[in-house]
Amino acid sequence: AHEAAMAARSKDNLRSPICCILGHVDTGKTKLLDKIRQSNVQEGEAGGITQQIGATYFPVDAIKTKTAVVNKDGKFEFKVPGLLVIDTPGHESFANLRSRGSSLCNIAILVVDIMHGLEPQTLESMKLLRDRKTPFIVALNKIDRLYGWKKIDNNGFQESLSMQNKAVQNEFKMRLEQTKVAFAEQGFNSELFYENKSMAKYVSLVPTSAHTGEGIPDMLKLIVALTQERMVGSLMYLSEVQATVLEVKQIEGFGMTIDVILSNGILREGDRIVLCGTEGAIKTNIRALLTPAPLKELRLKSAYVHNKEVKAALGVKISAPGLEGAIAGSRLLVVGPDDDESDLEEEVESDLATLFSRVEKSGRGVSVQASTLGSLEALLDFLKTCKIPVANVGIGPVFKRDVMQCSTMLEKAPDYAVMLCFDVKVDKEAQQYADDNGVKIFTADIIYHLFDAFTKHMNELTEKKKEESKLLAVFPCVLNPVAVFNKSGPIVIGVDVAEGQLRIGTPLAVVKNNPTTNMKEIIQIGRVTSIEREHKQIPVCKKGQPSVAIKIEMGGHQPTYGRQLEEKDVLYSLISRASINCLKEFYRKDVSNDEWQLIVKLKPVFDIP
Ligand code: GDP
Repeated sequence: AHEAAMAARSKDNLRSPICCILGHVDTGKTKLLDKIRQSNVQEGEAGGITQQIGATYFPVDAIKTKTAVVNKDGKFEFKVPGLLVIDTPGHESFANLRSRGSSLCNIAILVVDIMHGLEPQTLESMKLLRDRKTPFIVALNKIDRLYGWKKIDNNGFQESLSMQNKAVQNEFKMRLEQTKVAFAEQGFNSELFYENKSMAKYVSLVPTSAHTGEGIPDMLKLIVALTQERMVGSLMYLSEVQATVLEVKQIEGFGMTIDVILSNGILREGDRIVLCGTEGAIKTNIRALLTPAPLKELRLKSAYVHNKEVKAALGVKISAPGLEGAIAGSRLLVVGPDDDESDLEEEVESDLATLFSRVEKSGRGVSVQASTLGSLEALLDFLKTCKIPVANVGIGPVFKRDVMQCSTMLEKAPDYAVMLCFDVKVDKEAQQYADDNGVKIFTADIIYHLFDAFTKHMNELTEKKKEESKLLAVFPCVLNPVAVFNKSGPIVIGVDVAEGQLRIGTPLAVVKNNPTTNMKEIIQIGRVTSIEREHKQIPVCKKGQPSVAIKIEMGGHQPTYGRQLEEKDVLYSLISRASINCLKEFYRKDVSNDEWQLIVKLKPVFDIP
């Protein structure tokens, strides 16, 4: 057994680490990838770079050539066999490279535009990287845009910087410092890569230009260094199959196919595989393992080469019957000779079930829809940190039945009759149904934007309710009449505010003893429609402030001073259970402690339990 283990660990059995590129839109992720893919003609053909499905493979020899300019003494030692870089940059791919909550992406490059600093998707990417504990470096891209930059194509950064004039160097330093501060604010210590003494403690910042190629040799070398330092040896040996579905695609001549990143192990034609589908686990046999045909063979009939078997790490397209409904982000398991297929089915289904089970027990919350398992997980994580409750969860485009499910919230908790949709399409009929029934659908391809849209929606609802509640809210007060200006139609009197605060719109009442029945009687006088002091309208008069003249009006039967309201009467604001609740919900800040106590005192006056 020991010998077998040793054999498994032999150098031929090494596998390449997987690298993802993340960052905000337009920072240059695609351009950087293009640049490192380009063979460098002057330094000789950096052979062996192969285009795969969803990824590009860089054998170590190609990396050696591309980093030669920053490894002139050849002292830097390469231990990895190569590097597999995922082709579609962005956190969608990163989020889908997942397996049981951990990431199959071994290292990442976070691209930041040196002229723009940290942007919303940079922060989102950082959160993902932190959650998945993925080591990463930062490419501070677009250094050629520093004013006055003089380029030396494909040069190492340090040498290029030393050739710049003072002004350029100063601007660089200033932007570097700003970036470090911004990273610190996000809880990351960072350091310029050649000043970084500990890659475990500090994130390395490597300045690059995807246009001139400067800094790219440093970036590649750094990625390899980080891998070798942070990935324990065992990680890089071939062992049991580990694979993830990155994309599900219809391909002419093949039907539905899945693009898979094989991060460990070997896949063979005919293998029995199990993966997650919208209607439960999908079980099928691999019909074909396809990789892109090399450029020179493209004129042949097919764009793909068929492989009997493929070895990690690589990207491969799998054609197999019954792949309709496969979900991106799903794990792909291979049924081995000793495996019970139903165990594996349960296992992949549990990936989906775990996410679907993360809904509120109360059944009150928003509906969430995302394109893939990975993005759904990221969205749920994010909503959790924002304390937005989720009641329904879905994968794929939004259809009418999803909106119908969300609309059940219109009765339970109307504020949550909202769908937050990440990177998915909304069917026309579904949108129509939502519009007709008052369900809000928000779509975005940046998670933050969904949060912003939802927060804005909630604020608008609160404002609307506050507006509607204005008549219901009654601030507590006790008034003593001090003068009479108009006895009736309407009553206009002078009052002192003895307790609390008097506001326009407050309904007033007096409390009397009915001599015939000898029982307490509450007489409604009307609402205060005007408050004046020295002939000026004021909205509020508080306890202790000088007397005011108030107009009291009531629809229908107008009360008269001298009858319903007499000189010795005390006026109370007419509070109720509903008015108290309304104050609590919308005006808590506007009611002082003394006033809350006044409410407690007034409760028995109006027989409020
Ligand atoms: P992505 O959205 O992050 O993939 O960004 P792209 O790679 O599409 O680049 C966005 C824009 O920035 C394009 O117009 C690129 O030409 C430009 N760009 C990318 N990298 C650099 C760079 O290093 N220097 C300059 N000046 N422009 C760049």
